[in-house]
Amino acid sequence: MAIKVKNPIVEMDGDEMTRVIWKMIKDKLILPYLDVDLKYFDLHVKVRDTTDDKVTFEAAEAIKQYGVGVKCATITPNAARVKEYNLKKQWASPNGTIRSILDGTVFRKPIIIKNIPPAVRSWTKPIMIGRHAYGDIYKNSELVVTGPGKAEIVFTPAGGGAPQTVAIHEFKGPGVIMGMHNTEKSIRSFAKACIQYAVAEKADLWFGAKDTISKQYHGFFRDIFADETARAKAQFETAGISYRYMLIDDAVAQVMKASGGMLWACMNYDGDVMSDMIASGFGSLGLMTSVLVSPDGKYEYEAAHGTVMRHYYEHVKGNPTSTNSVASIFAWTGAISRRGELDNTPEVVAFCKRLEAAVIKTIESGVMTKDLSVIAEPRPAKYALTEEFIDTVAKQL
Ligand code: NAP
Ligand code: MG
Repeated sequence: MAIKVKNPIVEMDGDEMTRVIWKMIKDKLILPYLDVDLKYFDLHVKVRDTTDDKVTFEAAEAIKQYGVGVKCATITPNAARVKEYNLKKQWASPNGTIRSILDGTVFRKPIIIKNIPPAVRSWTKPIMIGRHAYGDIYKNSELVVTGPGKAEIVFTPAGGGAPQTVAIHEFKGPGVIMGMHNTEKSIRSFAKACIQYAVAEKADLWFGAKDTISKQYHGFFRDIFADETARAKAQFETAGISYRYMLIDDAVAQVMKASGGMLWACMNYDGDVMSDMIASGFGSLGLMTSVLVSPDGKYEYEAAHGTVMRHYYEHVKGNPTSTNSVASIFAWTGAISRRGELDNTPEVVAFCKRLEAAVIKTIESGVMTKDLSVIAEPRPAKYALTEEFIDTVAKQL
């Protein structure tokens, strides 16, 4: 008999190869076992186009309403995609739209499997990364100066009052200047989302910045994190986790020696760089999951990779593919398991654990897709095709 999931989950379908995998996962690994009310939104690029992207906004509102969503990878249209799909325009990235409606932060979490060794030997548990996705150099203003002159920061208060001026540099010759900013509101939301996720994952929270050099800018981030984590003291205690502030270079050194299991909160640029390092250090994009968490505790799960376009074109031609479905399967188990925890239905959480264990056991028994077969130890004699892998997981389950 199917296990009943108490409250609805928002499902967002997507594009290309991940859409193909999505249906297989749903039909073979989820729906035979769970009685779940899925609020379905089709974010296929053509549906976004015909609805003038309304469907994406509706999906985001539904996540706000129900609290938990799971999303298939989607095409972010560029000029080539507009032509390929005959679109009205280059619609915005659905992930960007959903992120801004939920005011959310994206966390990445790798899946650890015994025979897929990480590049760093000590990493036995996942290192989760949260990247602040607003401001700093990503919303900067820059100026190349061509000769001698004076550069200043000027702040003019909106309600009148004297402008504040800070000298940057007296140029003796050509050079370059950059101005950047962040807002208290955005940093607080980020800190809150990090706390939500650390508590939900029962993972220690680390934050690193360079406040010895940037006493005001980086110091501002450090102080907000100190304030928000102090407010959440009781939640930290209940979850049995701690908060650690470090200099960013110390954080990097500690991460390379750690066994993992922590959430590493990063400023925008650090997160951009470090999330790619951590992802490749753990093996494959096909093993990286991603979750969007809002400061008020709404969750949206997905795979970190895209729609795997190249494989899709092979699939359309009728050629066999070997696309890794693990991150997409874990997006489902992540969402359903969160639902189960919020609903207080341990049998739902237990099903997700069983499905995840079946995936891991399948790979540990030597059945895996091509991307993993080239990094596995030992290497399997042959790799599994897309559907073959999912069928083996279903058998294992
Ligand atoms: P991608 O889908 O991440 O794939 C890039 C390459 O990485 C693939 O060609 C494949 O390498 C490998 N790969 C990624 N995921 C894999 C998997 N599950 N199994 C096996 N191999 C995998 O990136 P893309 O092809 O550059 O982008 C395609 C579309 O995805 C774009 O339209 C982009 O807008 C969209 N995108 C969406 C999201 C999202 O919705 N979250 C994120 C990123 C990109 P090989 O070809 O060497 O096998
Ligand atoms: Mg990057």
